[in-house]
Amino acid sequence: MSDVILELVQIEKSFGDVRVLNGIDLTVRKGEFITLLGPSGCGKTTTLRIIAGLETPDRGRVFLAGKDVTDLEPNKRNVNTVFQNYALFPHMNVEANIAYSLKLKKTDKQTIAKTVKEALELVQLSGYEKRMPDELSGGQKQRVAIARAIVNQPAVLLLDEPLGALDLQLRHQMQIELKRLQKRLGVTFIYITHDQEEALNMSDRIAVMRDGKFEQIGTPAEVYDRPKTSYVARFVGSANLLQGKAYNAGDSIIRLETPYGFGLVSTRGAKIRDGQAITVAVRRESVTLVAGETADGSGLRAIVKEKHYAGGVLQIILSLSDGSEFVSSKQGLDSPLKAGDHVLITWLPEQGVIVDLEEA
Ligand code: ATP
Repeated sequence: MSDVILELVQIEKSFGDVRVLNGIDLTVRKGEFITLLGPSGCGKTTTLRIIAGLETPDRGRVFLAGKDVTDLEPNKRNVNTVFQNYALFPHMNVEANIAYSLKLKKTDKQTIAKTVKEALELVQLSGYEKRMPDELSGGQKQRVAIARAIVNQPAVLLLDEPLGALDLQLRHQMQIELKRLQKRLGVTFIYITHDQEEALNMSDRIAVMRDGKFEQIGTPAEVYDRPKTSYVARFVGSANLLQGKAYNAGDSIIRLETPYGFGLVSTRGAKIRDGQAITVAVRRESVTLVAGETADGSGLRAIVKEKHYAGGVLQIILSLSDGSEFVSSKQGLDSPLKAGDHVLITWLPEQGVIVDLEEA
């Protein structure tokens, strides 16, 4: 049996004259945690609503467990959605909120009581049965919303920015809890966020979305370490981007010539012509700053502009000779460098990633 639970094939959707989804293809395996990551307005929620059946695509098909559900009503699909605003019934207590859909399905009382109890245990809210929603914290409300969704035993759980309303600390805590819960349940999660850190922390795979298309789909490590495009490199982890010309520098290594000096970059099998214009992404934390000369003459000439700490990370903002900025970061410790110092920006060849190459 195939382990594919959900398949989107060439989904297109417009609202009026505005094309919102531009031919989306996605295959999700059973038990996978997949995140749609992208900026506001790129089409994440519309994709989720099409999977849920709350929106009809103009073209393309939706398959759930091998069955074409494109024209099926939302309540006939084995999916449930958890929204950012929880959407709990304010006049019902926790127990009644969770039991609601089971009652609608005319499930017997004993089964309902047992299922609600188990769901509350799973989200660690046993003892909260009689509380009303306005007597719960944001994190607790979110857990009730999740409990309410999982009692239906959906094949796929859709989560639209479920942690968006929580403060940062609670958000981090809930990320870990939610990921654990997902593994324990074995339910497929399709998760929406515009927060790249959240996507990297939680997902088995990330689909990076831009203007109604997936720009790259891969594991967090693939998307982070091997971005295919400058958009992905910048959106996930704010990489530095450098443009220059490539010259062969030996076995699978090219010399990236820029107006500020040159750096060495691994080709990873890509065929690059001598003199070809390329763009290279270099992660902030991959950068080493050298005062003085390097042994092989590599390095981009730059001047330290400013230093600041953010969340235990030291960021050094550098200025290249044309005024463009380049950022280096490292954990913790201060650096003896100060504003106005001249340095060379260097990195290891395998830490430079050639992006925006046309597929061969
Ligand atoms: P956000 O992170 O802000 O929720 P998103 O990536 O989820 O954004 P969507 O909600 O899918 O984006 O919206 C994509 C585009 O479609 C937006 O420009 C939005 O204004 C538009 N849109 C969404 N729903 C409708 C609708 N019912 N009618 C008209 N336009 C819509």
